[in-house]
Amino acid sequence: MSLGMNVSHLKVLIDESQLRQRTRELGEQISRDYEGRQLHLVCILKGACVFLADLMRYLPLDISVDFMAVSSYSNSLHTSGEVKIIKDLDSSIQGRDVLLVEDILDTGLTVDYLLRTLHARCPRSLRTVTLLSKPARRIKFVEVAYVGFEIPSDFVVGYGLDYQEKYRNLPNICILKINE
Ligand code: 5GP
Repeated sequence: MSLGMNVSHLKVLIDESQLRQRTRELGEQISRDYEGRQLHLVCILKGACVFLADLMRYLPLDISVDFMAVSSYSNSLHTSGEVKIIKDLDSSIQGRDVLLVEDILDTGLTVDYLLRTLHARCPRSLRTVTLLSKPARRIKFVEVAYVGFEIPSDFVVGYGLDYQEKYRNLPNICILKINE
């Protein structure tokens, strides 16, 4: 595939079939846990949009979806630790069973901030699902109910995840090595 850039520094970490299988397993687990309840999915843009789109098709539940955008990185490979809400939710989460859908848990600062913010809005319950987690990078301990894959500390792209807005369309999760 030609993306108009040098892709020779991309190495596949998790391929399409692994992503599909694990997403299905997470969907089955979440469906069992929320059986008979209405589940409100809060997707964190932009990175988690591909994961959400696949995960929700494995949730045969009464679901609704809302989106929130935050920025914790300013086009850099390293976290700044600063979290800013760029787009807030459209609807109230008060009294609802909310599942935060994240792409990746790195230092934990973003999810920690989001959970505190959403808790203050009085949901009935609040849990998190993240496709990826880098345990070795954690600064803030955050409780995450569902984790897709634990991965090494490398910077990854694809399946929704970007580097400077590129690579989101890769079907795999790839390690990105930048020649700086
Ligand atoms: P944290 O606050 O946990 O350090 O970072 C969470 C956010 O940082 C994620 O939602 C994601 O946007 C970004 N991030 C962290 N690690 C990576 C990575 O390896 N690749 C990409 N593309 N984004 C990352």
